[in-house]
Amino acid sequence: MPYEGELASKSAHSDIIKNPEIQAFLNECQYLTPPSQEECEKLAGRFSEAPSTENVSLPSFAIAVDGSPYEASLDDQLPSTKIGYIKLGAVLIDLEDFAGLKVGKYVDPFRVAQLQDNNSSFTFFVPSANIRWSGKQSVRDSFRALIDRQFLDEKTRFKKDDPNTSLRTTLFHLASRRADEKLGTGDPTKLKIHKCPSCEFGPLILEDIPEPQYCTNCGGEIYPTDCLRIWEEVSDYQSNQAAINRLMNILEHLIPIHYMRYFADQAPVQLGGIAFFVDGPLAIFGTAAWIHRSIMIYLHEINARLKKHGIPPMLMIGLQKTGQVVDHVNFIDRFLPDNRLFAIDDDYRYKYILAGREASKNGFGFETYYGQDFIYKTSTGRTFVFGLPYPYDSKNQTGVNFIKEKVKFENYLQLQRAIKLVNHFESDLYENAVIPVALAHHYTAISLQPGGRILDLLTKKGLNKS
Ligand SMILES: [Zn+2]
Repeated sequence: MPYEGELASKSAHSDIIKNPEIQAFLNECQYLTPPSQEECEKLAGRFSEAPSTENVSLPSFAIAVDGSPYEASLDDQLPSTKIGYIKLGAVLIDLEDFAGLKVGKYVDPFRVAQLQDNNSSFTFFVPSANIRWSGKQSVRDSFRALIDRQFLDEKTRFKKDDPNTSLRTTLFHLASRRADEKLGTGDPTKLKIHKCPSCEFGPLILEDIPEPQYCTNCGGEIYPTDCLRIWEEVSDYQSNQAAINRLMNILEHLIPIHYMRYFADQAPVQLGGIAFFVDGPLAIFGTAAWIHRSIMIYLHEINARLKKHGIPPMLMIGLQKTGQVVDHVNFIDRFLPDNRLFAIDDDYRYKYILAGREASKNGFGFETYYGQDFIYKTSTGRTFVFGLPYPYDSKNQTGVNFIKEKVKFENYLQLQRAIKLVNHFESDLYENAVIPVALAHHYTAISLQPGGRILDLLTKKGLNKS
């Protein structure tokens, strides 16, 4: 496809607009217009002054996770035979190490380039179209088997010889906490899938063991990762880009939780000093959306444990660079004074951001979001959209009006630290769309794989400090 701005595409575009049929169609359209100047001035008044961060300390480390999906034809002879893969970058930034990438006043471009190359700690691959794997009957079954295998694989384990340190075991921890009574197990060694992908019998219980497991009804192989239900969107002969994107969305949120689980078990004190950055809103969409509730429960449990040790809640930030909220912010930005903060409430969102969409009865994002979106304009005039985990483990607790409570600054104990961190990385985050690369600009960044060095590294750093 020609790039935007290329002559070919421009003239093609104006031809289309001139087409009488398209003209007639456009005349019948109503546009969702941006808010007027008057409205913008009014809504800027709903923003508050950002809280002071003077007495707040920065975290010692940041872990940033960022994925990118790819789909490729095997070769030119077989254009409809496709594989998909997801590169998932995870870096650890040592915020106390200023020496890092800087050479005198300047950032060493070779170090940054190297990081960009290394920014692929994990690669997950799946069949996309017209490929079967290892004797499986369909693309769908191959897709299921391969996802499960890679969740359990050594590449996701903190200890190579211990399958219980795998990403799949982290999934068991989340799935066992599933809020749906019929599908939660309350035991992290067991999870339920709602139905067998082959015969639809269910629910079925699976155990956290490396050995194959089979449906009690049809005898077909079933996998713990079937609980993510990505397989429902996989077809045999068409591109499975949608399923690949879905898998990436899930991984971008599961990987931080995977690290948290490990630290919570091995070094809870360190956990209080790490900020986790993820790309996009704190939400899981599609057939795996249920897992957002388990994440809320899990984060709440870990924070309760930290509190017992006198450690503040974990800092997890979802930074949004694109999407409807960011588009909206681009419209209103010039009306916002500097140093302003706003927790987007449902009233505002449905009026100005999702105009025309019917408000959800239970509140925005009831089925998908585990964190609150904030719009923040720094004192130097750069505007960010970021999310912080909701301070509750459930959206429908008795006695709590969630829709009101979720937008109160005082409910977010880590809000000031989040702002301090955004301020700290301000210009890099603003200019660079890839969070790990942005954060790494002025610091030493270590490309992370769960296995091996990470805990040693943090432990040593922690010891040095004390
Ligand atoms: Zn079955």
